[in-house]
Amino acid sequence: MNKKVVIIGGVAGGASAAARLRRLSEEHEIIIFERGPDVSLANCGLPYYIGGIIDARKKLLVQTPASLFKRFNIDVRTLSEVTHIDRQKKEVEVKNLKTSEIYTESYDYLILSPGAKPIIPDIQGIDLLNVFSVRNLVDTDNIKKFIETSSPKRALLIGGGFINLEIAENIKEKGIEVTIVEMTDQIMAPLDIEMASIVHDHLRKGGIKLLLKQSVTALEGDTEVKSARLSSGDELETDMVVIGVGVTPETSLAKDAGLTIGKTGGIEVNKYLRTSDASIYAIGDAIQVKHLVTDQDVLLPLASPANKQGRIAADNIAKRPATYKGTQGTAIVRTMGLTAAVTGTNEKTLRKLGTNYGVCYLHPDDHARYYPGFSEMSMKLIFARVDGRVLGAQIVGRQGIDKRIDVIATAIRAGMTVYDLQELELAYAPPFSSAKDPVNMAGYVAANIIKGDYEPCYWNDWAKVLSEDPMLIDVRMEKEVENIGAIPGAVIIPLNDLREKLSEIPKDRNIIIFCQVGLRGYIAERLLKQHGFTNARNFCGGYKTYKSIA
Ligand code: FAD
Repeated sequence: MNKKVVIIGGVAGGASAAARLRRLSEEHEIIIFERGPDVSLANCGLPYYIGGIIDARKKLLVQTPASLFKRFNIDVRTLSEVTHIDRQKKEVEVKNLKTSEIYTESYDYLILSPGAKPIIPDIQGIDLLNVFSVRNLVDTDNIKKFIETSSPKRALLIGGGFINLEIAENIKEKGIEVTIVEMTDQIMAPLDIEMASIVHDHLRKGGIKLLLKQSVTALEGDTEVKSARLSSGDELETDMVVIGVGVTPETSLAKDAGLTIGKTGGIEVNKYLRTSDASIYAIGDAIQVKHLVTDQDVLLPLASPANKQGRIAADNIAKRPATYKGTQGTAIVRTMGLTAAVTGTNEKTLRKLGTNYGVCYLHPDDHARYYPGFSEMSMKLIFARVDGRVLGAQIVGRQGIDKRIDVIATAIRAGMTVYDLQELELAYAPPFSSAKDPVNMAGYVAANIIKGDYEPCYWNDWAKVLSEDPMLIDVRMEKEVENIGAIPGAVIIPLNDLREKLSEIPKDRNIIIFCQVGLRGYIAERLLKQHGFTNARNFCGGYKTYKSIA
C-alpha cells in the first residue's frame, strides 16, 4: 500500500525532506502544504536581493510548485495553511488562503517544518506602515518597494543579529544612513564580547551608528514611523524600521496537537527526529536540538541543520534508519566588508556550565605576507583543558574566514583535539595560506598553553593582573608603539634587545609581556622563563586583543 506523507512548510527543511523521500521511493504520495506563495525559496539570500547584489527575484526561487511536480512528482500546495492536526484520525485540516475553503487531508506520516517566526516586540507604533521584519520573499518585496518608492534617508534596525547585520550592509550600499539599536552590550550573540567588539569598531568606522545597551521603547508617527524613542530617553528620527530581534519556533500546531514541547520552547524530537507521536517527524527551526559540544538542549535556527534534518526524516520514513547527532551552531555573516564566523560553543556558555576550558587568541594573516593582498584575521579558539578537545572557534576578518571556520567545524564534528589541529595538512601556496595555516597556528598556541610552555594573561583578568603591580614589558619596536599605540605603564624593550637587558628586569615581580599579536610576546616569555623569570606571562592576542576590548 502506498504511504502518504504530508509535509507542513515547503522551504528549507520541508522541501529537502520531500525531494529526498522521492529519491528513495517512487511509492510514497508526497504533499507539501505551504502557507506562503513560494516554496523552496532561498531566504538566506533575501538581504542580498534587497541590496541588489542578487539582481533578479526569480533567482531566489530555487524550485517552484510546477518544477517540484515535474521532477519529483510532489504535490505542492502554496497559500495553503494547515490549521489543525487530528492525530487520532491522522488528518490535517487545511485552509486554502486563496478561496478560504477548508478541507482535510489524511496522512500516514506527517513532517512538521514550519520554521520560526520573527519576534515582534510589543511596543507602541510597531504596526506603523514602514516597520518591517524579514522572513520571506513577501516581506522582502515590501522593503524593496518601500526603498524604491519612498527613498528613505535613514533606517533604524532594531537588534544586532545576523540578519540585521546583513541588512545593514545592503541598505547602506543604497546610501541609507543606518542606526542599529541593540539591547545587550554586543551584537551577534554567539560571539564572545571581545570578538564582537572588533565588529562594533568596524561598523562604526564604516559609518553605521551603533547604539548598544539601549532598546526602542516606542515608534512614533501617524501612519508611518517618523521617530523612535529609546530607553535612554533620546529620540531618533527615522524613515524606516527593520526588526531583527530573533525568532521563536512555530509550535502552535504542535502544541494544539498535544505533541511534547521541549523546555527551550521548540518541538521535542528524538534522535530519529520523531516527535512524541511516532507518525509525526519535526525538523528545522521549530525543533529543540542537542548542542553537539555541550549536549545541552538548544534552539539553533540555521539553514544547514534544517536541510540535513529534512534528509534524515525522509530516510527514516523510507525505512533507512538515520539519526541526527546534534547542531554545533556553525554560522557566518558578512557586514560592511567584514566577515565574522563561529562554530561550536562560546566562552560565556562554558563559563556558565563550569567547564574546564582554555582559550587562545591569535591574529594570523590569511596568506603569506610576502604575497600581495594579505589580510590579518582575529581568531579565538576554545578547547578543553583536560584533553585538548576543540570546543569552539570565532574568527573575524576580511579574507579566508570561511575556510578556517569550516576546517575547525569539521574538527569539532570529528571530536578532534588541538594536537590534531597542529597536524592538519592543509592546502598551501602563497596566494592561499602560509605553510603553517592559521588553523595549525591555533593548534600550536592552544597546545603550548595546555602543556604550560605558554602562560597566558587574558584581557578579562586585566584588573586583577594590574592589582598585583606587575612589570609590563612591551617587546614591540619603539616606532611600532609610537604609530599603533602604547600600553599605559609598559616599558618598551624590543624583543631583539631583551637578552641584553635581562639585568633590568626584576625576578621577584610578576611580568606581563605585550607585543602586537602575541607571537613575539611568546618568544619573549620563553626566553625569560629559561633565564629564571618564572613569573613571566604573555598577554594573549597582544596589543591587538587588548585594544579591541580596552
Ligand atoms: P523555513 O525555511 O522558514 O520554512 C518554514 C515554512 O513553513 C515557511 O515558509 C512557512 O510559511 C511555512 N509554514 C509555517 N506554518 C505553516 C502552516 N501551518 N501551514 C503551512 N505552512 C506553514 N540560516 C543560515 O544558516 N545562514 C544564513 O545566511 C541565513 N540567512 C537568513 C536570512 C534571512 C532573511 C532569514 C529569514 C533566515 C536566514 N537563515 C539563515 C535561517 C534559515 O533560513 C532557516 O534556519 C531555515 O530556513 C529553517 O528552515 P525550516 O524549514 O525550519 O523553516
